[in-house]
This record gives sequence, C-alpha cells and structure tokens, in this order.
Amino acid sequence: MRQATVYIDQEALQYNLNRVKQLAPTAKIVSMVKANAYGHGVKDCLAALKDSDAFGVACLEEALEIRELGYEQPITLIEGIFSDDEMQIVIDKKIECVVHHQQQLDWLRAHKEAYIAQGLKVWVKLNSGMNRLGFKVPEIIEVINSLKAEGFTCVLAMHFANADAENHPLNDQQRDQFLQVKEACAPIMGSCCNSAAIFKWPELNFDFVRPGIMLYGATPFADKTVAELDLKPVMTFTAEIIALNTIQAGESVGYGSTFIAEQEMQLAIVSIGYGDGYPRAFPKQNYVSINGQQTRLIGRVAMDMIAIDVTHINAPIGTEVELWGKERLVDDVAEANGTIGYELLCRMSARPVRKLA
Ligand SMILES: *Cc1c(COP(=O)(O)O)cnc(C)c1O
Repeated sequence: MRQATVYIDQEALQYNLNRVKQLAPTAKIVSMVKANAYGHGVKDCLAALKDSDAFGVACLEEALEIRELGYEQPITLIEGIFSDDEMQIVIDKKIECVVHHQQQLDWLRAHKEAYIAQGLKVWVKLNSGMNRLGFKVPEIIEVINSLKAEGFTCVLAMHFANADAENHPLNDQQRDQFLQVKEACAPIMGSCCNSAAIFKWPELNFDFVRPGIMLYGATPFADKTVAELDLKPVMTFTAEIIALNTIQAGESVGYGSTFIAEQEMQLAIVSIGYGDGYPRAFPKQNYVSINGQQTRLIGRVAMDMIAIDVTHINAPIGTEVELWGKERLVDDVAEANGTIGYELLCRMSARPVRKLA
C-alpha cells in the first residue's frame, strides 16, 4: 500500500492545552477547532481536547459535527450565522453566535426568548482596526448596552491583526479600544486573545481565551520556535522511499528538469506530492527528515512523488521519511514555502491515511 500517513499525537495536544491553562489560569478556554481542527481531524482532536471549556468554529456545519460526536460544551460561531434559517438550529443545538452586523442582530432579536432561555451568550464583535468583521466604536457601545437591557448575556469579542508582531502600533490602538468599550459596557465579559496574544499579554486574557495554532504545536510567531514556546507538534506527516536512483553529473531530475546534478549522487523517490497536501512551490530550499537526519529535496514536487538527496544517508526502499513533525517542523517547511504553518496544516488533503501516534 502506498504510504502517506498523518499521525496525530493526542498527548501532545493535551500537553499544549495544559500550556494554555498555565498561561491563562483564570480564563476559560475556547479551543479553536475550525477547519477540521486546523487540518488535524476534528474527531481525534476533540477527544484530546475534551477538557476545554468551549469550542470555536467558523460555521454551523462545523458546530453540528461537534454535537454529533457527543460534546456538550458551549460552541461559538466566530462569524455568526449566515442566514435567518440557521437561528433555529443554533438554538436547538445550543450554539452561540458572534454578531457583527445589523442583520444578525435582527435575526437574533427575532428569536430572543428562545435564545436566552437556552442560556446562550451573544459574542458582540468589535472592529478595532482589523477591518474584517464587527461594529466600530462608538456604535458597539450602543449595541451592547441595548442587548444587555433586552436581557442578553454578552461577551465583548475582538481579534488582533498583529498579535504576532512586536511593537506594531495597531496593537495598542486595538487594546485601548477594547478596554474603552469594556468599561463603557461594564459589567461585561471579554475575549480578545488568540495564541500569540495568550503568550504576549497575560493581562488581556479576561474571561475567554481562544487558542488555535498553539494547541496543534505550531508557532504563531515568525521569530519564536515551538521549542522556545514549550509546545509539542501534534501532526507528523510521513511517507516512504519507493525507489532509489544513482544519477551522474549532468543528469536532471523531475518535471522541468530544474535540477541538474553536479556530480554523481544517490536519489530517493518518496511517495508524497501536492496531491497529498504537500506544497509544490519552494522559493527556498526545503528539507525532509530521515531518522533525525535532514536532507534536501531535489527538483520539483509532483502530484504523487518527490525526490530527495540520500547520497550520504543509508536509506533503503521502505524507509520512512518525515515531511513535517517533531524533527522537521511544519513551521520550517512553511517558511521554505513562503507561508505559515497554519496554511500547510489546514491544506492537508484527505488522501493520506490518518492514524493516532
Ligand atoms: C482562528 C481564530 C483564533 C485562533 O487563532 P490562532 O492564531 O490560531 O491562535 C482566535 N480567534 C478567532 C476569532 C479566530 O478566528
């Protein structure tokens, strides 16, 4: 059988969840499991994250999957509902909504009694400068105060545009707006921390933190490794050597013949490609890991195969190759690919076999 395997390490997930608890001991944890738990597979991840206080997802379908798997914690829809007919399902299944525009407020108010009777909170989104979703100051103050007067329990929600950046001027502006609204609407619960903010601003943890990438053991920062953050990679993505070739100086490898050998070398062909979710473009040299030893990719990534240099490695057919995981970090593969770990994890295709580590 062709080997392309994604291993999920549930103990690493639990370890990372405990890191959130250490960093935000007084906040409730909304584990972000959107996009199939950042590509890891929501079922296996929920099992390891079952001690979370709540879950966060991007749409009703993702929330219903959590309910179907039997988890009863609160769930927040981070973009709210997309049409009026989703409101009844939200209420029946006890799913909480973000509201970020007037129409969502109208839908909510039309179902006010049932929503409140289910004990659901309303997450009111502040647009403090990211300019994706939310009400701006001062409108949001009026929105929250009238929702409160109508009997809704509200959470002030905000998202930083540059939590991963040191000293970005927008960070202070966003924080100040959040604090201003929080005070103008007091008492109100608050939530503004994603993974990067959890690490950087313990004073902003408030009532709910919303960790995503850190749970999966990838870094939210360009300049800090998972080891420095004391996180453990959850996903290990592997394939196998399926052929060995010796090539001579002047011979080329793969589509486009982009690589030409300068001397005799030993190549291994590995059963992985962009059809599996491995990226094709590497503006910088990329590497894989074999038994802890890093070795370079050679030539272009194809749909089902890559070539690697094993001139100085003893690696027979059948040897397991780590594309990313605990030795070759997804953060480093992403860097070579000109992106962030988030994207590579979420882009994982359905083709590799999923196993527990
Ligand atoms: C995805 C998301 C998060 C998690 O962000 P990470 O950087 O992965 O920790 C938090 N809050 C909101 C609103 C999100 O959409």
